[in-house]
Amino acid sequence: MIRPEQLLAPTADGLFCPLGGFHIDPVRPVERALITHGHGDHARSGHDRVLATAETLRIMAARYGEDFANGGTPAKLGEAMRIGDVTVSFHPAGHVLGSAQIAVEAEGCRIVVSGDYKRRRDPTCLPFEPVACDVFITEATFGLPVFRHPDDGVEIHKLLTSLKDFPERTHLVGAYALGKAQRIICRLREEGYREPIYIHGALEKLCRLYEEEGIDLGELLPATLDAGSKTDFAGAIVVCPPSAFSDRWARRFPDPLPCFASGWMAIRQRAKQRGVELPLIVSDHCDWQELTETIEEIAPGEVWVTHGREEALVRWCALSGIAARPLHMVGYEDEAE
Ligand SMILES: [Zn+2]
Repeated sequence: MIRPEQLLAPTADGLFCPLGGFHIDPVRPVERALITHGHGDHARSGHDRVLATAETLRIMAARYGEDFANGGTPAKLGEAMRIGDVTVSFHPAGHVLGSAQIAVEAEGCRIVVSGDYKRRRDPTCLPFEPVACDVFITEATFGLPVFRHPDDGVEIHKLLTSLKDFPERTHLVGAYALGKAQRIICRLREEGYREPIYIHGALEKLCRLYEEEGIDLGELLPATLDAGSKTDFAGAIVVCPPSAFSDRWARRFPDPLPCFASGWMAIRQRAKQRGVELPLIVSDHCDWQELTETIEEIAPGEVWVTHGREEALVRWCALSGIAARPLHMVGYEDEAE
């Protein structure tokens, strides 16, 4: 049997498969890239050929323009494809719309690259699908036992309660433009919020794309003052990228109440630093329990940890009798998540 290291190896450009001649989520332009999902640290422009789910290809085109690569091929979930001497297949990762794990297989050895993933229900994407494998490659963004994400329903209700308590204030909800923003909007609708939701211009393209992919976001209006007066935004929800808090843009709203939807909001200091009044702990990554339960469920022969709190997860694997090693991969940042 082939050794896993011969099938997939960490390089400065990202994970490389010599038998198939491709990289997975390369951080620099390469000839052939397989992309797990559309977040900027995984999906970059400038590759020659890209293989990804149809949704991820659409997201890349929306962010970088139609010429983000010389050629893009859509990968169908669950379908085995031959590339060089290996077989690859894509499986849902539950992270954002179109996100996939990529299984790479040759001579009876299968490695699953999970990209970013989560186990919680998310109405905007397909749920994570466990795939049996010899090596499971995982991230460890929240890979410390202190990280325990609350139920997102609890967090959404915090926001709805605050709206009732402060009906004159604009609730500015900072959320990552791809995935988090649409998930928050969708969850608000599920919890019965029917008012129009205002969105920052930076979210428009991706929200429209989600709607075209069949995800109902309800009535969305641009968060511009052109159409009405400042008071129109009293008691409204405005969703924006977190970076917009400090812009002049944010000052146009009446007594804005900054909220931020992120797994990092579990750390009070981070919320304080960013001037967040209402932290909403909503993450598109696994917490500690979900990471370890996923590894137990998949029961791989070996675990490789790409980035994040690698050492803690590697140590947990060792104590659980699972071979594991950190890959120390650079270029994957989940600050913005
Ligand atoms: Zn991601």
